[in-house]
Amino acid sequence: MTNFSSRVEQVSISGIREVFEAAGEDAINLGLGQPDFPTPDHARQAAVDAIHSGAVDAYTSNKGTRELREAIADKHARDNDLDVDPEDIIATSGGSEALHIALEAHVDSAGHRSANDRTQSGSAGEEVIFPDPGFVSYDALTHLAGGTPKPVGLRDDLTLDPATVEDAITEDTAAFIVNSPANPTGAVQSPDDMREFARIAAEHDVLCISDEVYEHIVFEGEHRTPAEFDDSGNVVVVNACSKSYSMTGWRLGWVTGSTERIERMLRVHQYAQACASAPAQFAAEAALSGPQDVVEEMRVAFEERRNVLLDGLEDIGLDCPTPEGAFYAMPKVPEGFVDECIERGVVVVPGEAFGTQGAGYARISYPVNVETLKEALSIMDEALSAVE
Ligand code: PLP
Repeated sequence: MTNFSSRVEQVSISGIREVFEAAGEDAINLGLGQPDFPTPDHARQAAVDAIHSGAVDAYTSNKGTRELREAIADKHARDNDLDVDPEDIIATSGGSEALHIALEAHVDSAGHRSANDRTQSGSAGEEVIFPDPGFVSYDALTHLAGGTPKPVGLRDDLTLDPATVEDAITEDTAAFIVNSPANPTGAVQSPDDMREFARIAAEHDVLCISDEVYEHIVFEGEHRTPAEFDDSGNVVVVNACSKSYSMTGWRLGWVTGSTERIERMLRVHQYAQACASAPAQFAAEAALSGPQDVVEEMRVAFEERRNVLLDGLEDIGLDCPTPEGAFYAMPKVPEGFVDECIERGVVVVPGEAFGTQGAGYARISYPVNVETLKEALSIMDEALSAVE
């Protein structure tokens, strides 16, 4: 048998899957990372029309159709007050591919690390700093790019302190990742933090990858992007239609950054992907340029559920930093709580699936209706009694 690459051997299939498999078929699943709403009709219809017209039978331009990239640039002007050239956008297969090509294009597999450091971490590549607990792909994609993951802890409110990032930067740092609103915590970074992240990227000449896939799901404060404060060209923004328009299955995201960075990321995208799926590009263009009220409707529904969940957690006696965005909450939980929940038919994900500092927490994902959420809360109450 052939050998496998050391990069791939450092990555395993996501721990979240194992949790799903452990649960019964009619369990209440509070582990899923996707909205429970339908994709807007006008987005679906645009794809159907494009399929019937034959417009999607061929490859599009590698970066995506000009019309889609214009719709994305308009979105950045409308929502982020950013002037983005459609030429500086690559449409990708979801935010996942955008993260992948950003890391592939910027992280070297040979850093300046000492032999001792290499043996300890099993990797010699440049470092990527990201939040712990944080989205599972950051660690895996860093390994796949040949880099060295450098997870850093969070503040008590589960936001990422720019000072922590700055302290973690070494001569081997290629990039740091900021994710607001965040998975798995629901935390939203302040405008001041975002300004600091842009400053750090400029001053230390490292790349800031800003993962903004939950940008529209904010309940308190506001979403701001470090790109707004960037004049060094060291910020790239990753975004997607997945969460904003409930289009996780369509696989359409994008990355934007300086012309030079886009050109390098395009080299990876061109050979790994050629172009994002054409029907999805048409659907995304319609979603981004059509009526935006669905986005607000979903945000309002998530806020109501968040409030029900927070009240319920308080009632049963679980301490939970208030999540200001996304559709996740991360209460502190006693040992054995997650297993007791799963045994009783409520799937929640152990915090350590998102990094070592996630130990002692559970991630509750709440894209379910209020009734289901209340039922789950009463089961969590029983689970808690069982371990206390
Ligand atoms: N970034 C974060 C923080 C996420 O939670 C996810 C998906 O869960 C993604 C990126 C990837 O999204 P997509 O489905 O668009 O690939």
